[in-house]
Amino acid sequence: MKWGEQRWPQMKAMDRSKIVTILPTGSMEQHGPHLPLQVDHFIANRIAEDLEKRVPEILTLPPVWAGTSGHHMDFPGTITLRPRVFIDLLRDVCVCMHAHGFRRMILLNGHGGNRASLQVLGQELYAEMGFSINVIAYWDLVPQLVKSLKKSKSKGMGHSGELETSLMLYLAPQLVDLSAVPDGFRSDQLHHSRFISGEGITRYVNIKEHSEIGVDGFPAAASAKDGELFYQSVLTELEKVVRELQAEA
Ligand SMILES: [Zn+2]
Repeated sequence: MKWGEQRWPQMKAMDRSKIVTILPTGSMEQHGPHLPLQVDHFIANRIAEDLEKRVPEILTLPPVWAGTSGHHMDFPGTITLRPRVFIDLLRDVCVCMHAHGFRRMILLNGHGGNRASLQVLGQELYAEMGFSINVIAYWDLVPQLVKSLKKSKSKGMGHSGELETSLMLYLAPQLVDLSAVPDGFRSDQLHHSRFISGEGITRYVNIKEHSEIGVDGFPAAASAKDGELFYQSVLTELEKVVRELQAEA
């Protein structure tokens, strides 16, 4: 079910404390010269939509399309929220859901840059309001697959590298232009160590200082086939999480 398609009497009739709600979060930020700005919220939202086809009794909300992307502002098109604004926006949404009796909330995140804010949000809601939310970055559901599909040494998902590009080649190939990536580009052949965290230190810089084209990874190694495997595996794992949450007493 979609949250926005319900009428209030339908909402009233639901056993709201048992229903799992899914709020996709993402970003509107540069994704290299070959991928569109919407990648992160588009993917999170597609996962929620396809999950709802498998588990129709969940309630999905429209995606929060902007996140914290200050480190991408060197590139035109990026829209960022200050972390406090992002946290407070989500906080109000979650508090409203809670006020209406919803107790099983998932925030399905598609943007690595949102992680720290989501952590603060979860801690605040529990410490100050006394309720828990479940935050999931979709790629964290399939850590082994992330490792095995990686063709470059970028950290985690990278950024607009082979993994996100594969997902987009699978989900929306018409929005991908691989010809815009310079021939032979892979970020692990760049040597901008300022971006890399050393032992025990994390230094915060903008992505442009690491990669002129805003890419961390090896986009040319992407394929729709990898994207399909990745996407379908995420869906399968997320379905398990949702069914577990539904089964909780
Ligand atoms: Zn992304």
